[in-house]
Amino acid sequence: MDLQSLNKQQREAALHTEGPLLILAGAGSGKTATMTQRIAYLIDQGISPYKPWSILALTFTNKAAGEMRQRVEKLVGSCPGMWIMTFHSMSLRILRENYEAAGYEKNFVVYDTVDQKALLKNIIKELNADTKIYPIQYVSAIISKEKEADRGPDEYIEREGETLKSKMIYKIYREYQRQLRKNNAMDFDDLLRNAYHVLRDNSEILEGYQRRFSYIMVDEYQDTNHIQYQIVKLMAQAHQNLCVVGDDDQCIYEWRGADIRNILDFEKDFPQAKVIKLEQNYRSSGNILAAAHSVIRNNRGRKSKRLWTEQEAGHKIVYARLSNDKEEASYIAREIQLLEGPSRGYDDFAILYRTNAQSRLFEDALRQARIPYQILSGFSFYERKETKDMISYMRLVANPRDEMAFIRVINEPKRGIGEKTVEKLRTLAGVRGQSLLDVISDDEVVEGLPAKARDSVKQMAEIINLCRDEQSNLTISDIYDNLLIRTGYMKSLEEQNTQEAEARIENLLDFKSFIFDFESEKKASGEEATLQEFLEKVATDGDADKYESESGKVTLMTLHSAKGLEFPVVFMPGMEDGLFPSHRSMDSMDKMEEERRLCYVGMTRAKERLFLTGAEYRVLYGNGSFTRESEFMRELEPSILDSDGDMIYTPKRNSGGLGVNTGSMDGFAAPAYKPYERQDKKITYDPLQYAKRIVKENAGMGDDDFKPGDEVSHSKFGRGMVIESDQKTVTVMFDGEGRKKLAKGIARLKKL
Ligand code: ATP
Ligand code: MG
Repeated sequence: MDLQSLNKQQREAALHTEGPLLILAGAGSGKTATMTQRIAYLIDQGISPYKPWSILALTFTNKAAGEMRQRVEKLVGSCPGMWIMTFHSMSLRILRENYEAAGYEKNFVVYDTVDQKALLKNIIKELNADTKIYPIQYVSAIISKEKEADRGPDEYIEREGETLKSKMIYKIYREYQRQLRKNNAMDFDDLLRNAYHVLRDNSEILEGYQRRFSYIMVDEYQDTNHIQYQIVKLMAQAHQNLCVVGDDDQCIYEWRGADIRNILDFEKDFPQAKVIKLEQNYRSSGNILAAAHSVIRNNRGRKSKRLWTEQEAGHKIVYARLSNDKEEASYIAREIQLLEGPSRGYDDFAILYRTNAQSRLFEDALRQARIPYQILSGFSFYERKETKDMISYMRLVANPRDEMAFIRVINEPKRGIGEKTVEKLRTLAGVRGQSLLDVISDDEVVEGLPAKARDSVKQMAEIINLCRDEQSNLTISDIYDNLLIRTGYMKSLEEQNTQEAEARIENLLDFKSFIFDFESEKKASGEEATLQEFLEKVATDGDADKYESESGKVTLMTLHSAKGLEFPVVFMPGMEDGLFPSHRSMDSMDKMEEERRLCYVGMTRAKERLFLTGAEYRVLYGNGSFTRESEFMRELEPSILDSDGDMIYTPKRNSGGLGVNTGSMDGFAAPAYKPYERQDKKITYDPLQYAKRIVKENAGMGDDDFKPGDEVSHSKFGRGMVIESDQKTVTVMFDGEGRKKLAKGIARLKKL
């Protein structure tokens, strides 16, 4: 392996393997590329003997981690044991390996924002707090901020002083933490905080990691928060082989606790640090760089740096201010159609907006113009009701103490269990010190339930317990199928026989493909896919993780999630004061600077073409108003703008309004509207039929009358021969896996 593809500074950085190193450089200068090469170099030549497991590399998204691993392995072959992951995933691993030190039980779960809000909602209600004064969103933001700064409830009240308000928040925060513990659960912020505490308070554990990871690297270091910084510092303390990579101009998560000082003060924390600056940009054309620079130079709190490129100036930046927001969306759709062609696929385009609320109009316009797109917003498929329900069932299998999951599904499908009954069950669980699942596994308790609920509740407890006991003999897909069918969930959808139910079934099958992909991927890398890992993936995947680079679709995402990515053509809509920069940032200099950095991040995603647009009149959150053009537009150097000097853009090329084939100008009526979701799905079956079939298939599974000598096949262990069979179990000698005892009634075993 050589480092031929790198320039002089990049190579210097890759070769500087011992001692602290800061790579401070602007966007698109190859920071991530250099870090990747550096890892490959370390493994191939730097560390002797070959020890990939001594590498720890931290990235900002799971997706970025996956890509980095792939590139490294392409350069130097398979690297088992190397940790390339996000801070959250690393914390999770550390806690899994040391759950006792963190004061948790083995199978603790991670609550995502939806669970977190549901739990807070209950607590706010229990404490009789007024939701007008203490809205969930507000309280959860405070708690999150406190945790990011490593302050528990006591530290919060101490710092805040006792007021009516702070006392209530203190109570909510304390109760929230108590209930999380009781449910053997952590939220995202706890992951980092608990991992940090484990390392800080247990020198043996810390030393173990320090010994193991002799090379530590962090990408996007400018966006680390206080706790992430502390974790890195602890881990690198002994050997100081820490390489951090970042750009102070791209710090865009201060509002979430990122601390720009972490990168600016790196040289203070590590006085031996070598600093390397990369100045050549390989991503963007000259005009795009000039545009980004003309905006960011207005920030005062930054290290001055200037990027240069060998590339041509390229196209000017197009600026179009349309008469309203709908026009803006159709303008963008039309431009995409004009630019798309043999050399540019739809996946070369990205629309990057300031807030998710802007996305709907683009979806409409793209749909009308028949342009395929993928949207990466908070509301994703994990958050669909039916997937959430199924995930909750799976979570109960992994952790029976997960109260939020239990409450979510006890009456899903409808079992005739109302809120009052749930309350009674909770009280009983509290008195007995048992989990809710334990409580409903008790026949006496079930007898006390409303008559119509008894059977279905009993069935629910049975199937969850069975899946729990047999977990090691089942694949994740098996567990999913069993839950889907034997909790009655699928049946109840089937019986509804509505279009909505059908769409839900389709989503559930979609989710199954997702599980299947996860299992196949794991299998391909020679690892076993566990339920726990799967649930962790579901809980920790961020927006950017859903982005597929070769999808054949236009990407819609927020500016924040676009960090680190690049696209040939970028649209930045909504260049208006109050939207971008956001209305909340306009009265504070610091926030204004953060918005400006966000603008810089957005512009520097573009390789060839950059379009900035705005609307004279916009409806946002139900309010329509006239707008003023963004301050950032006024900062841009006019000479690189292509706007014909005419700020209000009048469509020249098409009087029909929307795209080429939607209007009826040419005598053809627009084709009937098809919901986008279905448009390019490969699935051609009728979901209802399919559901019926798998319900039928599963009903009989594992109930065959097995006799010794029968040849069988099993979903997880493959082919084998029955050697023993009694009322409850079958013992099989598998060709590959040896002897296994399986529970009847759930074993995914077929006679051959
Ligand atoms: P960001 O600040 O946006 O995260 P970055 O500094 O991490 O950007 P990369 O994403 O690593 O930059 O690189 C930007 C582009 O430049 C990539 O397409 C990469 O392949 C290319 N590139 C990086 N270094 C070189 C090089 N020495 N020669 C040619 N191309 C390069
Ligand atoms: Mg990068």
